[in-house]
Amino acid sequence: MVSVATLGSHCALQLLKGAKDEGLETLLICEKKRHDLYKRFKFIDEILLVDSFQEVIERRCEDFLQSKNSILIPHGTLIAQMSSEQIESIKTPIFGNKNILRWESDRRLKEQLMKEANLETPKSIQNPKEINSLVIAKRHGAAGGKGYFIASSENEYNKKRDQLIKEGMIDGDDDLYIQEYTTGVLAYLQFFYSPLKKELEFFGIDKRHESNIEGLARIPAENQLNMEKFTSFNVIANSPLVLRESLLDDVYKMGENFVKASAKLVPPGMNGPFCIEGVYDENAHFSAFEFSARIVAGTNIFMNGSPYTTLIFDEPMSMGRRIAREIKHADTENQLKSVTT
Ligand code: AMP
Repeated sequence: MVSVATLGSHCALQLLKGAKDEGLETLLICEKKRHDLYKRFKFIDEILLVDSFQEVIERRCEDFLQSKNSILIPHGTLIAQMSSEQIESIKTPIFGNKNILRWESDRRLKEQLMKEANLETPKSIQNPKEINSLVIAKRHGAAGGKGYFIASSENEYNKKRDQLIKEGMIDGDDDLYIQEYTTGVLAYLQFFYSPLKKELEFFGIDKRHESNIEGLARIPAENQLNMEKFTSFNVIANSPLVLRESLLDDVYKMGENFVKASAKLVPPGMNGPFCIEGVYDENAHFSAFEFSARIVAGTNIFMNGSPYTTLIFDEPMSMGRRIAREIKHADTENQLKSVTT
């Protein structure tokens, strides 16, 4: 029997609760500083303490995971804290396609995959000199929106970039990706693709609460003008959304196109959970500024299922539980290789 393991952060509680609900053994790789939190939860069977998540690629961790016949579920923390090379070198089987995580971390590869999937995207700007409208400058990788800023001229961009360099967050222009700023309703569309059933399931939608951009919007313009502080998009929380039903057909099509494009560019494709993130404009047109090629923390809202999972399953189904169910099916049918890399 396989067990399910993950790093103690991001959506670990959802993942391991879901695995336990499916009757699987659950393991957590946990930094010592977070042990007090995670030891509270009885559905975690075993906790391996580490000083830093970097130890996942070390012998002690790999031996532990292999002795437990574990499958490691990747999430945002793994991507934020490890390089693509380190992730690809992990010997423990990883749920989904670990090679696509590089495409998530690298903005240029990301753009290529989104184009292949026919997703409409905001224009990217190659050189700060070309800034002539509102843009957002974003850091590479899963930075969680921290240190992202808005600018409407090269001058403003340079000033804010220099501030980030001073704060030690970036080294220079190469660490930033500039994209047209899109206004409208932001939506983070969560999917699961089953390589066993060869079927796409739409799981739910969330909205992110980001600091301090959300707080700034509550301040009158005249006060904003006097503020020294500039914007950041650090995700603090998520809340649920439902879409107008007439938009759902397009949502499925976007998801299916993304699955097809991934199978072509990054075999074995987009297996498991993923998220397409973007903005609906005033004509209900969706522009995708980002994707995550693994579970997103916004699925934590739906630990008991979402309005959309209710339409597919006759029982509460979280993304964590769905992953565990896929693993269980694969294990019974001797197909674990189809759901892991
Ligand atoms: P990302 O890392 O691309 O998910 O971006 C983090 C946050 O920045 C998003 O959740 C949005 O709030 C904001 N954002 C990113 N790209 C854009 C864009 N092109 N237009 C408007 N807001 C954006």
